[in-house]
Amino acid sequence: MNDLILPTYADVVAASERIAGHAHHTPVATSRTANEELGAEVFFKCENMQRMGAFKFRGGYNALARFTPEQRRAGVVAFSSGNHAQAIALAAKLLGIPATIVMPLDAPASKVAATRGYGAQVVTYDRYTEDREQIGRDLAQKHGLTLIPPYDHADVIAGQGTAAKELLETVGHLDALFVCLGGGGLLSGSALAARAISPSTLIYGVEPEAGNDGQQSFRSGSIVHIETPKTIADGAQTQHLGNLTFPIIQRDVDDILTVSDEQLRHEMRFFAGRMKMVVEPTGCLGFAAARAIKDQLQGKRIGVIISGGNVDIDRYAELLRH
Ligand SMILES: *Cc1c(COP(=O)(O)O)cnc(C)c1O
Repeated sequence: MNDLILPTYADVVAASERIAGHAHHTPVATSRTANEELGAEVFFKCENMQRMGAFKFRGGYNALARFTPEQRRAGVVAFSSGNHAQAIALAAKLLGIPATIVMPLDAPASKVAATRGYGAQVVTYDRYTEDREQIGRDLAQKHGLTLIPPYDHADVIAGQGTAAKELLETVGHLDALFVCLGGGGLLSGSALAARAISPSTLIYGVEPEAGNDGQQSFRSGSIVHIETPKTIADGAQTQHLGNLTFPIIQRDVDDILTVSDEQLRHEMRFFAGRMKMVVEPTGCLGFAAARAIKDQLQGKRIGVIISGGNVDIDRYAELLRH
């Protein structure tokens, strides 16, 4: 039951020291228009400007930096629909560790190309019929590789928590924090950081409406599994929360909200048009939810984590046109 020892804020602090000088301390953006439209003061933590384009570099680098010399020699294997793949591939390259990445056949072309570009070996699978976790475990066993899952790992969770830690240390107290939710690595890490630094901050996880397994789990008290949801938020197409992420979320998060693909498109246009930022659909979850409950946020200080900006440029243009 070793794997059920939950990470703590001390692990987030250790992670922030480990990634310092390797991950970017990303900027916090503000927008007068956002403030006016929401009637609140909004602070955006721009993980779309993180190395490889998403917060996942934080958790990936933190996990790989803790490998023993034997683990480093044998290599790492990861399964991912994209950003975790790139994060592990880049961190492995920086640390001189061989990487094998299991990716869905229909992963965005830009993400597959970037992963290969970092020197990783890519193995593909069908995300609607095959079990990527099984494929990852088989490869790990056969070649002695260490499997680093995209969210349900203490070092990954601790690394992801460093984004919220930086945000709170930069802007001070927040009344509410909105965090994108897939498997819960970012949300659980953010919750560890926020509860420690700013205990009264309301913490919201935000999922795509089509894949609200996190909300169902949160409200029912046990992990709910769903089919791979069809949504433009490809970074949040997870089927279930993790054994580590769920108990942290249950303990430290205030609620899980959902938004539609239409709302995500609206925020992609907002970020492009008003803030001149490319944000991938999944990265828009937090702000879309904040806008949807703005009546409860009047006069408040709120934090929004923009989780990533990796989107195929043609696909991006297509999504913006709607
Ligand atoms: C992975 C990812 C998420 C979801 O993160 P989890 O830790 O799985 O909850 C959100 N946004 C982006 C851009 C991602 O890459």
